Amino acid sequence: MKAVQRFYFDHNATTPVSPEVLEAMLPVLTEVYGNASSIHHFGQLARQRLDSSRKQVADLLGAEPQEIVFTSGGTEADNLAIFGVAIGSKAGRVVTTTFEHPAVLAAAAQLDHTLVPVDGRGMIDPEAIRRALRPNTKVISVMHANNEVGTIQPIPEIARIAAEAGIALHCDGVQAAGKIPVNAGKLGVALYSISGHKIGAPKGVGALYVRKGTALKPMMYGGRHERERRAGTENVAGAVALGRAAEWITQHGDAENRRQGILRDRLEQSILDRIPDTRVNGAGATRVANTTNIRFDGIDSDALLIALDLKGFAVSSGAACSSGAPEPSHVLLAMGLSRLEARSSIRFSLGRSNTIEQVDALVEALVDSVTHLRKLAPAYA
Ligand SMILES: *Cc1c(COP(=O)(O)O)cnc(C)c1O
Repeated sequence: MKAVQRFYFDHNATTPVSPEVLEAMLPVLTEVYGNASSIHHFGQLARQRLDSSRKQVADLLGAEPQEIVFTSGGTEADNLAIFGVAIGSKAGRVVTTTFEHPAVLAAAAQLDHTLVPVDGRGMIDPEAIRRALRPNTKVISVMHANNEVGTIQPIPEIARIAAEAGIALHCDGVQAAGKIPVNAGKLGVALYSISGHKIGAPKGVGALYVRKGTALKPMMYGGRHERERRAGTENVAGAVALGRAAEWITQHGDAENRRQGILRDRLEQSILDRIPDTRVNGAGATRVANTTNIRFDGIDSDALLIALDLKGFAVSSGAACSSGAPEPSHVLLAMGLSRLEARSSIRFSLGRSNTIEQVDALVEALVDSVTHLRKLAPAYA
C-alpha cells in the first residue's frame, strides 16, 4: 500500500523548527555549551549569544533588549505576567476575557478576576474592559490575536483605558507575533508574551516583554538570571533559536504573511463556494492571514477531523479533550455559538510549508468527506 502523503494545516497548534533556526541553534548545543553566568571564556561565548538573541527578539517587538525576559514558553510568559503583576506586594484583581488561551484563563482563575465577554465576531469591546475595572484591579490581560479564529483585538484602545486607570496591560501575543507587525511601545502594553514553537523555534522557549518601569514579582526564585525576573540557568540554544526566528520574521515576515493570506483566502472561498451550509467563524472582524475557522452544519467536527486525517490532512477541531469526553471550544461558545455549532467547526491554520497545491487538495478532500458524512447523518436534511 502506498503511504499517505501528509499535509499539515495545524500551524497554530505548533509549527516545525525552520531550517535557518535549526542551523543557528545546533552549534550552540554542542560547541557553545558554557553557562552564561560563568566568567571564563566558555561562559562569555554563551553570554554573547544570549545577548545577541535578546536583541533580535527585542527588535521584533520594537523593544529594548533589557525589556525581554526569556521563559520556557508562552504559558510561562502568560503566568509570569499575570501573577508577577497581580500578586505584587498585595494581591489584586485581574480583568481578562472569556476567549483567552487556557494559559491566561487558568492563571486568572487562581486570583480574584472578571471575565469580559467577547462579541459574535470574536472581538472585545474596549468599553466593556473599562466597565469591568475596580479600584483593586492590578492587571488587564487581553490576547492580541485569538488562536482559534484569528481575530485581532483593539489593543491600542484597551491600552489607553489601562493607562488612564494606571493599570498594567498584558497582551498574549503568541498568535500575533510573526503574523502581524508588533511594536510593544506603539501598542502601549506593559507586558507581551510570545512563544518559540508558534514561530519556527522549538518548544520550550518563549519570552515576556516587560516595559521599563513595570513592577514584576518573579515566580521562580534562584540565581540572579534575567535581571532577577526569572531564575534558572539560561536556555542559550533556545534563546538563539527564538532570536533567529525573530530575525527571519523581521526580514521576511511581511512577504510570507501575504503569501499565506492568499492561500487562506483561496481555501476559505473555495469551501464557501463548493460546500453548502458553511460559514466562517469570526467573519467580519480583522483576522491574521493564516487562520480560518469554518462551521460545517450537520457535521461533527471530530468525525471530519478523523476523515481528513485518514486522507492525510491535519486540522484542528478546537475541542479540548481533557476528561476523555471532548468539550466544544470555549472560544466558539464565548462567541455565542451553540454547543452543536461549536462542535461542527474546524480550524485550518497555515504555515510556511503550505502550498497552493496542498490547499486545492484539501478542498477536494473536504468536499468528499463532508458530502459523505452528511449522507450518514439522517438528521441533516
Ligand atoms: C500556544 C499558545 C500559548 C501557550 O504557549 P506554549 O509555548 O505552548 O506554552 C499561549 N497563548 C496562545 C494564544 C497560544 O496559542
